[in-house]
Amino acid sequence: MSERVEHGRDDEIAQIRDSVRALCAGFPGEYWRGIDRERAYPAAFVDALTKAGFLAALIPDEFGGSGLTMRAAAAIMEEIHASGCNGAACHAQMYTMGTVLRHGSDAQKNRYLPGIARGELRLQAFGVTEPTSGTDTLSLRTTAVRDGDHYLVNGQKIWTSRAEYSDLMLLLARTTPRDQVKKRTDGLSVFLVDMRAALGHGLTIRPIRTMMNHATTEVFFDNMRIPADTLVGEEGKGFRYILSGMNAERILIAAECIGDAKWFIGKATAYAKERAIFNRPIGQNQGVQFPIARAYAQMRAAELMVQEAARKYEAGADIGAEANMAKLLAADASWAAADMCVQTFGGFGFAEEYDIERKFRETRLYQVAPISTNLILSYLAEHVLGLPRSY
Ligand SMILES: Cc1cc2nc3c(=O)[nH]c(=O)nc-3n(C[C@H](O)[C@H](O)[C@H](O)COP(=O)(O)OP(=O)(O)OC[C@H]3O[C@@H](n4cnc5c(N)ncnc54)[C@H](O)[C@@H]3O)c2cc1C
Repeated sequence: MSERVEHGRDDEIAQIRDSVRALCAGFPGEYWRGIDRERAYPAAFVDALTKAGFLAALIPDEFGGSGLTMRAAAAIMEEIHASGCNGAACHAQMYTMGTVLRHGSDAQKNRYLPGIARGELRLQAFGVTEPTSGTDTLSLRTTAVRDGDHYLVNGQKIWTSRAEYSDLMLLLARTTPRDQVKKRTDGLSVFLVDMRAALGHGLTIRPIRTMMNHATTEVFFDNMRIPADTLVGEEGKGFRYILSGMNAERILIAAECIGDAKWFIGKATAYAKERAIFNRPIGQNQGVQFPIARAYAQMRAAELMVQEAARKYEAGADIGAEANMAKLLAADASWAAADMCVQTFGGFGFAEEYDIERKFRETRLYQVAPISTNLILSYLAEHVLGLPRSY
């Protein structure tokens, strides 16, 4: 799109959008192509975002953060993606701290949040998924067993993104065996692990090379000893704490998808106007313009759901349904726009230098992570529509 599409923004959010765009202009396609080729971490980009305070958007002022609203945070992620950049290298820094903020002790908040806000402490790693249990989080096998003033952690996580570039990890582990809990959601606990102390002392990180550049890893715990005061909230209540943070994650990832969709639509529109075949712009053909128009309408509809979810989040409402629908619709919109964009560019859509194939690979992820489309649909079927539980 030559002109960007923004509706219902207030002045503060408009300024934030402008600042994010200005920052992102310093990280053009060549930068992302280079690190994509090398599967390198975009350290300079993350550093710039951190210094500008954008990653501390949701940390309240009292802990040194920017104390911004969810809509402002979503606008930051959207603009990053609409500018052709990728927030996946650092988005967790924005929302993972929410679990500490809501459920941590005062001592934990005072100890960690100001450092996270200043960017001196990186809380980028979120260790939930395991190779054997996958989506079935309640079947995870990593255990944390109390041993005096410590817990001993054993097990394995997979897809723990950014673990190599994080100081802290929010870890979900089983503290009570599954057959000894009254409710199936009990018995899991959350820990804020200092990976700097644990690395080489029971903690091993192995990178996984993926379709797109994502700095994801598998993580092994072999008698990793962590202080008992790293437990967040009450022992055994961790699953609820993690769930409560997932709504924020879904809204922010959905905003990234909207940004991606805008980027694809913008690229396709500009190209369809300028590429002349049979002596006229390809965009003059309805066979080319209709898919672009359809992707635009789909993006706008998804954008409304993302805004609605963010608005209700700010109002403190229960937004399980809206956060899930925002993620579902936005991920579908970005994937549809990506596919349309490749088609509009024809052969050039596959050429590295146009960035489309890279963004295409990057945006595919959101059909699977942080929650796969099927699991959102089963959530809506069961919890919104009252259909029988399917699993
Ligand atoms: C690049 C990347 C980064 C990630 N980053 C993180 C991270 O930082 N931290 C973290 O904890 N996790 C992370 N994940 C994990 C991600 O959340 C999971 O991959 C995702 O939740 C799906 O789990 P799974 O891969 O184990 O798939 P599985 O659970 O094995 O499912 C495989 C397929 O079967 C479908 N399926 C399974 N059960 C059902 C059912 N009952 N009904 C219908 N369909 C079903 C799923 O939808 C999916 O399509 C990441 C994943 C990737 C690929």
